[in-house]
Amino acid sequence: MHILSFDIEDWFHIFHPAYENQPDLWNSLTNRVEQNTKWVLDFLARHQLKATFFCLGWVADKYPHLIRSIYEEGHEIAAHSYLHNKVKNLNPDSFYVDTKRVVDILENLIGSKIITYRSPGFSMGKSTLWAFEILHELGIENDSSFKSGLHMGFSGRIPNEPFILKGNGFVIREFPTRTFNFFFGHLIYSGSGYFRVYPYSFVKNMFRSSTYEMVYYHPRDFDNGIHKYLNNHPLIKLRYRIGTNSSRLKLEKLVNDFEFVTMEKAIDQFNWEKAKVFDLVNGENNK
Ligand SMILES: [Zn+2]
Repeated sequence: MHILSFDIEDWFHIFHPAYENQPDLWNSLTNRVEQNTKWVLDFLARHQLKATFFCLGWVADKYPHLIRSIYEEGHEIAAHSYLHNKVKNLNPDSFYVDTKRVVDILENLIGSKIITYRSPGFSMGKSTLWAFEILHELGIENDSSFKSGLHMGFSGRIPNEPFILKGNGFVIREFPTRTFNFFFGHLIYSGSGYFRVYPYSFVKNMFRSSTYEMVYYHPRDFDNGIHKYLNNHPLIKLRYRIGTNSSRLKLEKLVNDFEFVTMEKAIDQFNWEKAKVFDLVNGENNK
């Protein structure tokens, strides 16, 4: 089961002090999200693929037609926060306000319930498990905010496959992105900059040896002109530019070599009976 997802945000929604949490500045910058998302939509149509689109509320407010066109082409619309702040930098009140804002605007745009969420930068952690009660309160049933392999304060690590987060009177299905062990850390290989940097043969081998993958890209991952806009240190330019000249071809190879589904479809396909259950209330892994 391979899930294809895109986080719809612009090139300046990166974690860098020059850009973070500055909507007034964002309004003055050149937008690339429209044309880059259009490329993504054309690519998916060409390959007859559907994907899950985690949309930033700020982008939805500014380019409502973009969200509508994603939805009208039959893709799944999900939420990726309003202002792209990491959850660990918010408190329960500000997280509630930000999440309600993105859920409301997306629901108004598409006329359908938003039930799936991804935190900016996979920023859910041990210290932000309170956020799931708020997500539940706002109608969220599915989440994709963890990297596998991490310790989350539960007994055991985040598994390399979907699992269940059990709260007080509710459950949320969790779809982590996979990592591999690299010295003392856990590295992603199937999304964004990681995907752009690794040789395709490495990614292909990882996919061949697994039964579950959650891939995620940003429209900017396929924009080889992005460095012209980043007014930053050469290393930042390099970080976001690297691999953008070959990423379109790599994605083409990936979708030709493997089958992909949306999160919605994956929920139906996955055997939840065998899923690990993590208890948010007492921090136990029940299986
Ligand atoms: Zn993001």
